[in-house]
Amino acid sequence: MTKSARTVTNWARNITYTAAEFHRPDTLDALRALVAGSARVRMLGSGHSFNTLADPGPGGVLLSLAGLPPVTDVDTAARTVRVSGGVRYAELARAVHARGLALPNMASLPHISVAGSVATGTHGSGVANGPLAAAVREVELVTADGTTVTIGRDDPRFDGAVTSLGALGAVTALTLGLEPAYEVEQYVFTELPLAGLDFPAVAASAYSVSLFTDWREPGFRQVWVKRRTDQAEVDFPWAAPATRAMHPVPGMPAENCTGQSGVPGPWHERLPHFRAEFTPSSGDELQSEYLLPREAAVDALHALDAVRPALAGVLQTCEVRTVAADRQWLSPAHARDSVALHFTWTADTAAVLPVVGRVEDALDAFGPRPHWGKVFRTPAPVLRRRYPRLDDFRKLAETLDLTGKFSNAFVREILGG
Ligand SMILES: Cc1cc2nc3c(=O)[nH]c(=O)nc-3n(C[C@H](O)[C@H](O)[C@H](O)COP(=O)(O)OP(=O)(O)OC[C@H]3O[C@@H](n4cnc5c(N)ncnc54)[C@H](O)[C@@H]3O)c2cc1C
Repeated sequence: MTKSARTVTNWARNITYTAAEFHRPDTLDALRALVAGSARVRMLGSGHSFNTLADPGPGGVLLSLAGLPPVTDVDTAARTVRVSGGVRYAELARAVHARGLALPNMASLPHISVAGSVATGTHGSGVANGPLAAAVREVELVTADGTTVTIGRDDPRFDGAVTSLGALGAVTALTLGLEPAYEVEQYVFTELPLAGLDFPAVAASAYSVSLFTDWREPGFRQVWVKRRTDQAEVDFPWAAPATRAMHPVPGMPAENCTGQSGVPGPWHERLPHFRAEFTPSSGDELQSEYLLPREAAVDALHALDAVRPALAGVLQTCEVRTVAADRQWLSPAHARDSVALHFTWTADTAAVLPVVGRVEDALDAFGPRPHWGKVFRTPAPVLRRRYPRLDDFRKLAETLDLTGKFSNAFVREILGG
């Protein structure tokens, strides 16, 4: 399928891609030919990023891999799945679960593509859970000349090859590590005070924990606690259990959310907050997120508390999660156990951007690394100082993609050099 990219937008509709052409090839050979025959190419996953990261720019070609035959080949003996890049987590999770296996973690929504998610360092929550890219064992890429390069964990390029911002090639397949299927119970607690917050204990109170606040008042309106039934019972003395099912965005219907009240369910129907068959989050929004060293969590929350009045007018909800350190050179969790401070804003870019600046100023002392797929204003030279392996990534990109075919204005600015 070919059409002008000027009719293609991201999920949030705040970005219309400026590429000259949009293609959705339905065979690998057609993909190879498009890549080899184009001067500038970027891939689009499910379009859930909030910035121009996916856009090749005017004159470039935007490619969706969602038209390729979907592959979810589970190897039960090896406990792995080979999945094509355009497949979404909802579909992947169902295929894996049907074979009695599970992914270690999921993001807040299952609607996102696997290749697009790991490319930006997308993550869920959990003190011992790395980003989704941490499950990747091998990545298969169609590179600039249309040939396939496979990079596995024993390859010295691997730590640059997964969270790659789409700058190395078109990811056609990934092999992910799995574990035996497990069940999760989800509990919601309300009104956790900021004063005296024992963040390490709260964050470690279950397999995956998220704190939500609208910053209208100090403290957290909701805490979502996801307990694996093969792990210890939840002991949560800091806040009261919710008396009804809740949505993290005030006023939105709880039926869009995964099962609560401690009713056990399969991992893929509890780890995401939002059910696959409903619109995730509020659907009318922008998002920002920053990953900071985890030991700075309480100080960073107090720094946000100090700018609470500036946030209130444009904030729908703020979510606080934890992410375990990983090795990917461009991962926002690279080499540091992190606390992730997420903001769901209103959809008003002009009103949101100055507030994003206020948040970045408030958090600056903690060296925050913004989520690559969300709205941020941090200047590229500042960002580069926060990624100690950025030069290694730039060299890898130059080796695999001599002419910068897979680069764009966003990536060039970040990489500099
Ligand atoms: C409602 C909502 C909730 C969210 N919740 C979370 C969350 O819980 N945790 C979190 O970390 N993030 C979250 N995000 C952000 C989202 O997970 C990321 O933006 C993610 O990258 C989206 O994946 P995608 O498939 O839509 O990728 P896209 O936005 O389409 O693309 C992202 C990047 O991946 C590249 N890419 C896509 N496909 C390929 C491919 N086949 N080969 C090479 N490169 C490719 C693109 O070029 C681009 O650079 C959320 C977003 C929304 C809208």
